[in-house]
Amino acid sequence: MNTVLEPGLYIVATPIGNLGDVSARAMEVLRGVAAIACEDTRVTGKLLHHLGIKQKLVRYDDHASDVTRDYILQLAARQAVALVSDAGTPLISDPGYKLVRAAREQGIALVSLPGPSAVIVALTLAGLPSDRFLFGGFLPPKDKPRREVLGELAALRATLVFYETAPRLADSLTAIGEVLAGREVAVARELTKKFEECRTGSAAELIAHYAAHPPKGEIVLLIGPPGEPDAPSEADVDALLRAALETQKASQAAAQIAKATGLDRKALYARAMELK
Ligand code: SAM
Repeated sequence: MNTVLEPGLYIVATPIGNLGDVSARAMEVLRGVAAIACEDTRVTGKLLHHLGIKQKLVRYDDHASDVTRDYILQLAARQAVALVSDAGTPLISDPGYKLVRAAREQGIALVSLPGPSAVIVALTLAGLPSDRFLFGGFLPPKDKPRREVLGELAALRATLVFYETAPRLADSLTAIGEVLAGREVAVARELTKKFEECRTGSAAELIAHYAAHPPKGEIVLLIGPPGEPDAPSEADVDALLRAALETQKASQAAAQIAKATGLDRKALYARAMELK
C-alpha cells in the first residue's frame, strides 16, 4: 500500500551514478506522490523502472513556461508532488530554484529529501580542507571569464569546488595553474561509479596526467585554499617603516604597518624610534 503523503512539493535527491544510493525515504515518496516533475522524462523513467515505480511524469526546468510552473504548483497545493533532476540533488546546478521560490511565495509546503550531490561526495574524498568551501557551479567555458572568476576567488581562504566537463578539463587546469599558482588541486571523476577516481596534485601534474590519459565522464574540480602569507622579513619591515616615517609620526607609522602585516604595534613603534 502506498504511504499517504501530505500535499506539498517534495524535493528528492537521486543517485549520481550508483543506483544503490537511492534512499528508502526517496523511494517511498516517489511511489506515493501524485506526480513527479523532472528534467528529462526518459532519464527519470529509467530510474523509476529500475526501482519498480510507475508514476506520472511532468517535464520541468527553470526555463519552463509559467503555465507549466503554475500547473505543478496548483497540483502541489492539493496533493504531494516530487521534484527530481536527472541525477543528484535538485537546485544544485540543476533546475528547481524558481519552482521552490514560487512555492514558498504561495505558502505551499516544502519537504526536502537529502541524498547524493557530487560537490559533497568530491569534498569527502579530496583531502582538501572541508571546514570552509565555496561551490562555484560550472566554471565559464570561455577562457577570459573563467580566469576572471578564478581571480575574483583567489584571496578566499576556502576550498573552491567547481563542476567540470571532460573536454574542458585541460583548459581549466591551465587557467588554475596560472591564476592560482601553487595551489593543491583535485580532480574527482565518475563518483560512485565503477571507474571512480580522485586524483590530487599541482595543476601542472594533473595537466600532464590527463594529457597522457584523456579523462572521461563526469568531473568535479577542487582547488585548495591559499597558504598563510609569509611573514615579512626584518628588512621588509624596515623598508615599510622608513617609507611610512617620511610622511607620518612613529606612532602612526607603527599602527599602519601593524594593521597591514598583523605584526605587534608596540614592537613596530620601538623599531620606528630606532630608525628615526
Ligand atoms: N545536481 C547534481 C548534483 O547534486 O551533484 C549536479 C548536476 S550538474 C548538471 C552535472 C555535473 O555534476 C556534472 O557535469 C559533473 O560536474 C557533476 N557530477 C554529477 N555526477 C557526477 C559524478 N558521478 N562524478 C563526478 N561529477 C559528477
